[in-house]
Parts: sequence; structure tokens; C-alpha cells
Amino acid sequence: MAEHLIISISGMRGIVGENLTISVATDYGCAFGTFLRNKEADKERKLSVCIGRDSRESGEMLSSAVAEGLCLVGIDVIDLGLVSTPGVGIMIRQLGCVGGVVITASHNPAQYNGIKLLLDNGIAPPVGVAEQIKRFFFGKRFSILDSTDIGEVSSNEQTDTTHIAKVLAIVDKEAIAARGFKIVLDSVNGAGGRVTKRMLGELGCVVTAINDEPTGLFAHKPEPTAENLKGLCEVVKAEQADIGFGQDPDADRLAIVDEAGTYIGEEYTLALAAKYIFSKRSGKAATNLSTSRMIDDIVEKAGGRVIRTAVGEANVAGAMLEHKCIIGGEGNGGVIDLRVGPIRDSLVGIGLVLQLMAETGKMISELVSEIGGYYMSKDKFAADKEQAEQIINSAKEIFADARLNTIDGCRFDFDDGWLHVRASNTEPVVRVIVEATDKSAAQKYIGAVSKIREMISGETTDA
Ligand code: MG
Repeated sequence: MAEHLIISISGMRGIVGENLTISVATDYGCAFGTFLRNKEADKERKLSVCIGRDSRESGEMLSSAVAEGLCLVGIDVIDLGLVSTPGVGIMIRQLGCVGGVVITASHNPAQYNGIKLLLDNGIAPPVGVAEQIKRFFFGKRFSILDSTDIGEVSSNEQTDTTHIAKVLAIVDKEAIAARGFKIVLDSVNGAGGRVTKRMLGELGCVVTAINDEPTGLFAHKPEPTAENLKGLCEVVKAEQADIGFGQDPDADRLAIVDEAGTYIGEEYTLALAAKYIFSKRSGKAATNLSTSRMIDDIVEKAGGRVIRTAVGEANVAGAMLEHKCIIGGEGNGGVIDLRVGPIRDSLVGIGLVLQLMAETGKMISELVSEIGGYYMSKDKFAADKEQAEQIINSAKEIFADARLNTIDGCRFDFDDGWLHVRASNTEPVVRVIVEATDKSAAQKYIGAVSKIREMISGETTDA
């Protein structure tokens, strides 16, 4: 049976031609456009939405279908073409659009694609707004106009130029260029290759680019994990490069490989970016509950504060705007700097890490070891919402002395680590993330959760 079309706050994702079809995409465009028209007080105002796509082969087709839907309800569409997700986020504000659409399934395999929605501030809709758009979509409540009032499509090719200029404005271009860094870039044949190569060139780097053709034919599994970036590690070693960068297909996530060809883990991307930012000034940082404590160590040392949010990029970006955070992001390699845009951006991550290397004169492995690290383990298992709640309640009894944060499931903080238990928003599973000073400390918490699971599934079976 075909997998269900997943509709969440960040848009929809499905398998092209199976459940994500042209008509679904057109309807989704109509739904988003109807929502945007309804919320606009000035009914006469011409509204425009920009649309971009990653390199998947189905991108152009789905982009046209969404654009058709938007035009049908009277929204003008600015087609940005093949660009990164952060690129679309930036152009929304640059062009004064009321929203943006990105055709991408991010790190999912090639048969998937998705339609990601962004509001005028460049952030995904909050839960309540996403629900409204979903209701327009399922109810097919579209305000379709006469042919004389429908929207028009135009194109704009300024995304890369605008994006690069914004990132270069937050780093010292000359200081980085003076180092002549040797870099290997793996863009997995996604949307990141063209713009990132150009930016690195402007930063005076010597670049060896692999998988840099935006064909959408992913050269390896697209999620930038250790297992999937083995090829990048080898090239970094062979080329004796200073650093390796791995992007996901829509270039919002960044993984780093050190000069020895060792994958250092996506959690370090945000930690390194924060290390640079907090070496200059103090303030607040935001990240989700599932992200490593490394950022707390860095921020606390600088006298700053970390705001922890529910999981979801929009939650982190929203908190950053609310608390005027100087850096933020997620442990999956997503770095957000509001000076560029309230969206995860691998180019921002690259810029800040190169700046840190340029200023300190240190190798990336040295900077990583200065940050130190923890043992982290992630697990998920089948459980419904009720079971998830039972697990969390039992854990609260067992870990009565822990400091709790209950904004998204429950995070238990201990002196030697933390445990985050939460029900997934998109599938009936519970996710458990543990981080501790060492493996044995982590095992203690993992073991406790396993015991609770056994107890609860036993009770469920007996009932
Ligand atoms: Mg992505």
C-alpha cells in the first residue's frame, strides 16, 4: 500500500506520482494562496509568493503545479528556479513576498518530494496556521478567480547573489581568503553545489567539489550522516584538505569532516558556529530540546543563555526572533543566524566555521577537541500517544530529582547528562535521545527507559 501523504507544519511530503501528484500539488497551491488572500486586510493589494525547488527530477513539474494553484486564486508567482531552501527564505523578504514555497523532500530519498510552505517572515507556519491551510486543502475551499484576475508568473535569478552577499556580510572575507583554505564539498547532487562553490570561491578557498551537479540523482543516501559521507571523508584525506563539508539536497543542513578525514558529527556544526559567535559577544542562543549540551557549555562560558524549544525548525526560529538570539539551530547540522535569515542555512554554517578557523589559526580537529563532547544515543520505538504519556509519567517517578522541561514530551536533565522522551508528530513512535558524559552514564538512562517500556507493553498486553 502506498505510504500516506504526510502533512505537517513544514508542509507536505510524499512519493511522486503515488500520493504526491500534480493535482495534489495544484490543490495545495490553491489552499496556501486562499489562506494568504484571506489573511490580507487590503483585498485590492497584489500579493506575490516566490517558489524554488531543489534538484529532484520531479521538482519542475511540481513547482509548475503549485504555481498554477497560486495563480488560480489570484497570487502572483516569482519563480526562483533551482535554489536552496534557505535561498527561498531569504528571497521572500528580499522581494516583499507574502509567502514562499520550496519544492523539496530535504534528506529523503529521490522518489520522495515535498512542498514546504513559508510565511512572509521566512518561517514555516505555526501549528494553528498550518491547520488552517490543511483545512482549506482537504475541504477544497479555494477562492478561485475569473481568468482576468488570476496571478502571473515571472522569474528571478538573483537568489544565489543575494544569499552569498548576506552570508559574506557576517564574516571577514579578507581574513578567510588570506588563509586559502583547501576544501572538499559534497552537495549530493542537490541544490547546494552551485551557490556554495561560488561562495567558497569568493572566500578565496581552493575547492574540490564532488557530487556538485544538480541532477537530483543522489550519489549516495542524501542524509549527511557518517555512513553516507564516507566518500567525502576519503576525498578530504586524499586531497589533504583543511576541511570537508557535506550538505543535504536542499542545503539547509551541514555536516563537517576534519582534516584527517574524520566525520565529526552534525551536532558539532551548531556548536562550532556558536563557539565563533560567542567568542565575539554574549547574548542568547536557541535550540531544540533534542540538541547536545555542547551549546550550553559554550554559551554559559560566555555568560549567555540557551533557550530550549520544542522540536521543529519553526519553533527554534520563532524563539530566536522573540528572544533576539545571536545564534541558533538544531543538532542535525542546521545553523540559523538571523542576520542572514530565520532559517537553517548550510552556507551560514560554512561561513562561521571558516571564520572561526581563520581567526584562531587552528585546525578544525583542534577546535572540535576544545569543545569536548558527550556520548549521544538516539532510539525510536512504536508507541501511541497514550503509551508515550505513560512512559513519560513513569520516567518522572523514577527520575524524581531531574530538572524537567515539558514543552515537548519531557526532557530530564541530570548532572551527568540528559534524556529526552517525546512522541513524534508525524508517526506513532516515541523518540528517545540520551546524552551523557560517557557511555556507561548514558546506558543507565537508556536502561531505565527500556525497563519502563517493557513494563508498559506488559501492562498493555495483559489488559
Ligand atoms: Mg534539508
